[in-house]
Amino acid sequence: MSDTTAQHLFLTGLKNAHAMENQALSIMKPQASRIENYPEVEAQLNRHIAETEGQIARLDSILDALGSDKSGLKDMAMSLAGSFAAVGHTVAPDEIVKNAFANYAFENYEIAAYKSLITLARASGNLDAIPALEQNLAEEIAMAEWLDANIEPVTLKFSSLKEAGETAKK
Ligand code: MG
Ligand code: FE
Repeated sequence: MSDTTAQHLFLTGLKNAHAMENQALSIMKPQASRIENYPEVEAQLNRHIAETEGQIARLDSILDALGSDKSGLKDMAMSLAGSFAAVGHTVAPDEIVKNAFANYAFENYEIAAYKSLITLARASGNLDAIPALEQNLAEEIAMAEWLDANIEPVTLKFSSLKEAGETAKK
């Protein structure tokens, strides 16, 4: 890979990651505000929302250090919104369970994106950017692990609330 190609791909990858993180916020914030019966899920979503805001700030400082023009970022966020439109399940009678699947998928998408971005940072010689990207990656891995461990308890809680006649969906 030539230096110019690597640099171009790294910059594009940073902008895509920025759009991905804004999309993450637009998925998690409405979910967290709708939850009524699953306080552990709500608390974890709120923790990850705060982390995600920090991830965006890290991406912003990498883009700033590269002298990148950030005026195009909003458009990319809007176009990514379409591709993840299926992620929300607010009309499903088991939305808490379906969102558990979708969030797990989304976090694993983010993990792959940061692994690719770290590879491009290395290939383009942007070594200063790597620690911040590794920190974002570590937070995505931790969230994916939490969601993995949550699938069983949320499924069991959904079924027991349903049996008790509660509005279990959220
Ligand atoms: Mg993220
Ligand atoms: Fe995440």
